[in-house]
Amino acid sequence: MVWRQAAGVVARLLDADGARRGGASIKTLTLAPGVAAKKVTHAVVCETLKHVPILKLVLDDAGVALSDDVVPNRRRRRAEDAERAGRGEDAGAADSSGEEENGSDENDSQRDTSDVAADEEHASVVPRSLAYVLGYEALFGAGLEPDTSSDAAGPEKRTDAAAVVAATRIVVRARERLKSALKRRLKASKHGSTEAFLLAQPGGKALAAVPTHSRHARVNLLKTDVAACELELRRVFSLSPIRDPHVPDLLVFPPGCDLHDHRMVQDGRLILQGKSSCFPAAALDPKPGWTALDCCAAPGNKTTHLAARVGRNGGVLAFDADTRRLRRLRENCAHAGAMDRAAPIVVPERGDFLALNPADPKFARVRCVLLDPSCSGSGTAATRGDYLIAAARGEAIDVEADHDVDACGSEGIGSKKTKTETASAEDAAPPPRVAAARARVASLARFQTEALRKALSFPSAERVSYSTCSVYPAENERVVAAVLPEARRLGFELERALPSWHRRGLRGRGLSDADADALVRADQFEDDCEGFFVALFSRPTPPGAAKVAAAAAATEAKAREDLEAARATKRAAADGGSGVRPVYRAGAKRRKKRAAPLFR
Ligand code: SAM
Repeated sequence: MVWRQAAGVVARLLDADGARRGGASIKTLTLAPGVAAKKVTHAVVCETLKHVPILKLVLDDAGVALSDDVVPNRRRRRAEDAERAGRGEDAGAADSSGEEENGSDENDSQRDTSDVAADEEHASVVPRSLAYVLGYEALFGAGLEPDTSSDAAGPEKRTDAAAVVAATRIVVRARERLKSALKRRLKASKHGSTEAFLLAQPGGKALAAVPTHSRHARVNLLKTDVAACELELRRVFSLSPIRDPHVPDLLVFPPGCDLHDHRMVQDGRLILQGKSSCFPAAALDPKPGWTALDCCAAPGNKTTHLAARVGRNGGVLAFDADTRRLRRLRENCAHAGAMDRAAPIVVPERGDFLALNPADPKFARVRCVLLDPSCSGSGTAATRGDYLIAAARGEAIDVEADHDVDACGSEGIGSKKTKTETASAEDAAPPPRVAAARARVASLARFQTEALRKALSFPSAERVSYSTCSVYPAENERVVAAVLPEARRLGFELERALPSWHRRGLRGRGLSDADADALVRADQFEDDCEGFFVALFSRPTPPGAAKVAAAAAATEAKAREDLEAARATKRAAADGGSGVRPVYRAGAKRRKKRAAPLFR
């Protein structure tokens, strides 16, 4: 079962990367609901990908015939996702990627692995990704003991299982040849160990730099508080997380601590969320009772964080353009206790944020805006496994790369490149794959700039945060620099976000040093979290505030008048028109009628 699953994930990752569709990551695929033994599958996938460069060589040397992987087409994957969503299951994706699938639908007639498995049951070739997984297990892993865990599977899975059994036989027969081939390859390359061999391959150095981050879980203040949570974790579960020094409601667990099935995660008191993904709501710091606007909200990681901050007297208007992702937002908000039927804190709405009318009265009370738009997701490359995938494909991703494209699509040169590199980069046209990636970043930057302008245009907004999980200046500092003059005309200034956080914005990207210093950056290799960016705009007196205050005063005056009128009617009814006033019980308390809140 594990090998079959792992081979499916490896095939899909290598295919997704090759087709540059994005969206698929090791985490999302190995944590998906249908996957059994998630932790083991994840480990086998990572280790297999890491060893692909040597496995390719030794499988070839040992004469193991490989057939191409056939990956389920996009439409089928969507149908599977929809089916899972229908069963109320979470696809397991974190907010980290922020990537949209941008490829075209593949050929529907393309067959998937199970069809091919039937053909190959008795064949002498092994599907490539399955060969990598089995080769890894035979040479570096737990060995090739028969895997019987698929016995209980349905007919389709049994067909796959039969293919795995057939492939395992082939690889077991080739085991000694594989071992000799490995020895010969290491000797010929003069590398003393497989590890040294892998390090010397394209992308190998980046692979060695891939960090292991702590696990973070946010305490859901709608259901508990930090102290109670810590106490229960310690007493009942013998876990002693530490409090994060920068995000007050965040707990830090050791790397590898698997909390997915933990009771407090299951009941929504703890929410698994990366540290940097908590930065926007922490920086925005909305007060209890505020109304917040979350512009690109799904799947709702930051929405539930905002909801916990504004509390049950506040509200969060959550917009997203994608129906499927919005459904997940609803589920996540319900799980977090932010969508109680009687008094929901979060009000989700499907729609294009760019098309909203900020003058619409429903936004009159919006005091803070969180904008976390689609981005390249380059800050999550390490945890997404991009480096593993790149190394498996024999490509190098430069961990130092400072890919800089301005919002107009012209390319800037990263600060870490030398002059010679600059000259040669300008002379030579980039390869099509690089050119396509740059064009995509430029297009994202245009959208992000437009979205930030929109976010700043809400008349009562006092605080606006802009964030991405990208590390490219084009999507970060340059976007801020492009809108800053207009922001200032609207009365906003850049506020120093998360003042105690050490890593600040990059200098020399169209911003003054002081402005760059107001920004927050996180580095996926040097900080204990994913790569991230936050800018915080604030203004003391939003133009809409006076209007809102006047409207609130008018509402209160009207409520008072109504109350007086109601009392007068009651008095008149009680004295029956006789003019004799009723005697009230001494000391009886009268309840003051409160004006109904506008938001709900
Ligand atoms: N803030 C989310 C969270 O923390 O879970 C992640 C947001 S994700 C990076 C970007 C989201 O923007 C996607 O869900 C996408 O559907 C949405 N989006 C993209 N363009 C949009 C638009 N024009 N209007 C509204 N939502 C949009």
